[in-house]
Order: sequence, then structure tokens, then C-alpha cells
Amino acid sequence: MTDERELPAAPDPVRWVIQKLERAGFETWAVGGIVRDALARRRPGADWDLATRARPEQVRAVFRRVVPIGVEHGTVGVLARRKMYEVTTFRRDVETFGRRATVEFADDIDEDLARRDFTINAIAWHPLRREMRDPFGGASDLAAGVLRTVGDAGTRFAEDFLRILRALRFAGRFVLAVEPETWSALCGHRQHLADLSPERVREELTKILGAARPSRALSLYAAAGVLPILYPELARCVHRREEGRLDAWSAGLQMVDIASRRYPLARLACLLAGIGVPARGVGEELPPTERAGMRAAALMERLRYSRADTESVSALVRTVAPGPEIGVRPALRRWLRQTRRVNHRHLFRIWIARARLEAARGAPSPERAVLSRWKAIRAELASDPPLTLADLALSGRDLIEMGMRPGPGLGDVLAHLLDLVLDDPSLNRGSILARRARRYLDDRAQPSATPERSA
Ligand code: ATP
Ligand code: MG
Repeated sequence: MTDERELPAAPDPVRWVIQKLERAGFETWAVGGIVRDALARRRPGADWDLATRARPEQVRAVFRRVVPIGVEHGTVGVLARRKMYEVTTFRRDVETFGRRATVEFADDIDEDLARRDFTINAIAWHPLRREMRDPFGGASDLAAGVLRTVGDAGTRFAEDFLRILRALRFAGRFVLAVEPETWSALCGHRQHLADLSPERVREELTKILGAARPSRALSLYAAAGVLPILYPELARCVHRREEGRLDAWSAGLQMVDIASRRYPLARLACLLAGIGVPARGVGEELPPTERAGMRAAALMERLRYSRADTESVSALVRTVAPGPEIGVRPALRRWLRQTRRVNHRHLFRIWIARARLEAARGAPSPERAVLSRWKAIRAELASDPPLTLADLALSGRDLIEMGMRPGPGLGDVLAHLLDLVLDDPSLNRGSILARRARRYLDDRAQPSATPERSA
């Protein structure tokens, strides 16, 4: 039995949209995520999606402010109090295969619910009449913790292979057991995941990484045999046990859960940090962190992540393992120089996740070490030390004005000066650097200069 109080109270603009449509003679319901999330007592995150008997042109006639979002699919955006609500005409599937569906408009809500993927997603709620329409028992499935397709599982997955990933995501998010027929049909169709567009695969991963505990859906990816098809680099980490430690896959999963859901890129870096495990093939001569960075970039390019995100995550993966030596400030500054394009805050988040994972496995408070490392990094950054040639108080142009000839030799001088100020930032003054530049050139002009000189 569903408790009425669990169903969502509709905000005024939603009630207004429904009222307007119904007064014009068109039955209208709230559907999909909003109803499911409320029944699952989840924070209402989903948008209010409305399903109506009105055809798109009829919806447009009822409201003054509308946005044609996908009129060919029957969706019109209705603006109410500056927010947009998607209003979609009831539909039925005529023919579906893989990703392509031919739909036509339908006249009743039950038909519309029948084309939805899982019973938990096929519940309609009428906030004005406070009536629930749940022809496939989605509410009781949700209460019993079961994920099940609407109708024959084999048919429903064959119609749309994305549903395989959606099933694993919803099962993870709502902690549901996948009903046996649904599970075997889902596993039976997994080879077809290779035909999905990379954008859709990425979108699923992004949604998983935004969930409270991504490890649940990701473990289901592994259990369903999805990893070798979509993420072979990750599949290779499963059970790859390093001595006395968790295998890279399990460590990644736990770190993803520990890192905050507010930072999906840091979470992705946690997941990918271990993919440097050796395998026969290209890049084996590289150190594991380099290899991991390379593989992370390849994976993200394949999924058509933006170039900025790809660079950010692969830089994190490359950098995460060896932290800087914080006791030695020149070494710390050199590390800051090397990692100046890395998002240090994300790096810190990953270090903390790893430390907490280690603490959970009995290591003595590794988090303290991370915190003091982070403090040292922040203090160093706050002093705004010169880290690049552009930060030097003396430029190539200054050197030319001092009479030096343009050319590669000039680059050597600048590199030498940067080296000096990385050791001691107080040297970063024009006059001092000019003197040091001359001395450097003199020394080079007399390669046999006596070693006692520096004394
Ligand atoms: P979330 O937005 O949190 O992922 P949602 O349930 O709102 O969850 P959407 O992708 O926004 O998911 O879809 C809205 C509704 O449309 C779903 O609840 C489901 O009823 C239906 N739906 C979406 N994708 C499919 C699909 N591939 N096959 C069948 N029905 C689908
Ligand atoms: Mg949604």
C-alpha cells in the first residue's frame, strides 16, 4: 500500500499548468522521475514532467508562453513563473529497435505508461485529484526493492539498449535487486552496448558519478559484464591485486564513494587512478602513472568528453600518486611548477579519499599527513612564488637590452634564472637576476673556470 503522504506535493505553477490543460479538456498527469523519487523518499531532484492528452499544437494554444522543445516527439516547454515545465503528449511505440523508435500520439495515460522502461518509472500521479496510476505495480516494486521492466524484458532491452545502462543505474541508485528475468535479458543483450553513441554512454556515467554512492551501479556494471565492452581499461583492474592492497578496481570504487558528489571530475579521476596496471601492449615501458594518464585520456576522448575535462582528469591521474616533498621548499616549488595546470583542490580531494580508504583498512591516520601536505601547498601558493618564466623579474627582452644575442642561448639563461628563483624566490629582482645572468654567461664563456670560484 502506498502512503499518500509519500507522493509529491505539486508546486503552484505545476498545479496551474495541469489545471489550465484540464479545463481545456485535456487529461494531464505528472510522470517519471518526480513520482518515483518521491515514492523512494529521495530528495526531489527530478523535474516535473507532465504527460497530457493534448497534442503539441493544442498545448501551444492553451498557453501564452511556450518553447517548442521537441514538437516532433510531442514535447512543449511551458513557462510558468520563470520556470519551464516539459509537457509531452501521450505516446505509444509503433516500432522500436535499438535506439530508434517510431512513436505516435496516444489517447490515454495507460498506453503512455506502457512504453516506459521500468515499472518504477511507469507511475503517474495526479496532484490535483491526488490519484495514482500504477498499472505495472511500480510502487510495490520500489517498496520491495525490485527493478523490473514493463512487459517482456528481452523485448524491452532489444528495443533500446540504453535501457541496460539505465537499469544498472537505477538499481544502484535506489538499491534495488534486478528481477531475474530482467537481469538475464539485460546480460544477454550487453554486446549491443558497443553500438550506443558515446555521448549516451558518457551521460550515464556522469549520472552515476553524481549519485550518492556510485560504487553500487558501477559494481553492477562489473557484475553484468558491461566493463569489457564499454570500459576495457577498467575491466583489466578487476581482481588485479597489488601486494597486500585492494585491487585497483575496488580501491577506485571506494574512493569514488568517499569523494564528494559535487565534484564528478575528481570522482572520475578516483575511478581511473588505478588504470595504469600493466598489460601487454603499447606504453608498457612507461611508468604506471603516465600509462594511467594516457589511458584515462584515451577513454575520455572515446566518450567525447570535452578537451578541457579530458586534460584535467588525465593530469590528475598522472599526478595523484607521488605527492610533493613538503619539508623541502624548493622541491615543493618544483612540484608546484610541474603541476601548475593540475587542479590542486581536486588533487587534495583524491588524496583525502585515498587516505580515508587506507584508514578504513587500518593504516594509522594517513589523513593527517594529507592535511599537513595540503596546508604546506596552500601556504606556498599564497606566497605567490615565481613558478614560470613569465613570473621572472627579468625577461628575454631585458636580456637583449643588456646586450645579449637573441637565440637558444637566451633560453638557457632564462632557464638557469628560473632554477635559481625556484630555489630562492627572494632572488626574483631585476638587478639580482641581471647580475646572475652575466655571471652565468661568464662561467659558460670560460668552461675551464676554476671550481674555487664559487668560494
Ligand atoms: P533521471 O532524470 O533521474 O535520470 P528520469 O526517470 O527522470 O530519471 P529521464 O531520462 O529524465 O529519467 O526520463 C523520464 C522518464 O521517461 C523515465 O522515468 C521513463 O519513464 C521514461 N524513459 C526515459 N528514457 C527511457 C527509455 N530509454 N525507454 C523507456 N522509457 C524511458
Ligand atoms: Mg529526468
